[in-house]
Amino acid sequence: MTNTLDDKAIVKDYFNATGFDRWRRIYGDGEVNKVQKDIRIGHQQTIDTVIGWLESDDNLPELSICDAGCGVGSLSIPLAKAGATIFASDISEKMVTEAKERAAKELADTGKLTFAVQDLEALTGQYHTVICLDVLIHYPTEEALGMIKHLGSLAQSRLILSFAPKTCLLTILKKIGQFFPGPSKTTRAYQHKEKTIIAALNENGFKIERTSMTSTRFYFSRILEAVRSE
Ligand code: SAM
Repeated sequence: MTNTLDDKAIVKDYFNATGFDRWRRIYGDGEVNKVQKDIRIGHQQTIDTVIGWLESDDNLPELSICDAGCGVGSLSIPLAKAGATIFASDISEKMVTEAKERAAKELADTGKLTFAVQDLEALTGQYHTVICLDVLIHYPTEEALGMIKHLGSLAQSRLILSFAPKTCLLTILKKIGQFFPGPSKTTRAYQHKEKTIIAALNENGFKIERTSMTSTRFYFSRILEAVRSE
């Protein structure tokens, strides 16, 4: 049985404490250990893939984008720089404060970028595109499916998600990792079956348009772009 409130409270506390320090460093450019460096490189590839998709459509200045679980703004800041109107939110106040500071440093004009501290399932409004990268890994599949349904209800045209896919190889690697607990260990990480995620997207009125997979030694992220099918 799952308890969404407990899971959210654990994740929120983590990203306001040790998780904040760990991920702020991974999503930065200072010294990190080898595993963290590998995750930094993999995560940047995921960000670059999504930005590449959006830029190739050549309409970023016309788009309203909701970045749900924005972290330190790794996606929101470059998208705002490219002219999109961004609503970025995260359950962790510390992450949002860091994102705001980075935006103030990196953007000449922050007028198109709004931040909020909010659970993604409490978000309201309508956006051309809703994006949620590397957040579903923190929740069991049943809860992730509820999140996809809610995020879908906010998306007028498109929902872009990334998640750790549940494949045989990754399940084995995860098991091996459990034999070597160490300082690089984070919160619980949940993998999701791609066919389950796609079925949920279909049920909520979306069809898959573009896909990608980022794989490094320690970072695995399947990226799906789903567009409204009706
Ligand atoms: N999406 C960002 C990126 O790719 O750079 C951050 C990814 S980080 C691994 C996961 C983020 O999801 C954290 O900042 C965490 O606080 C946020 N998060 C977790 N659960 C959330 C929820 N229920 N609502 C909003 N944000 C959430």
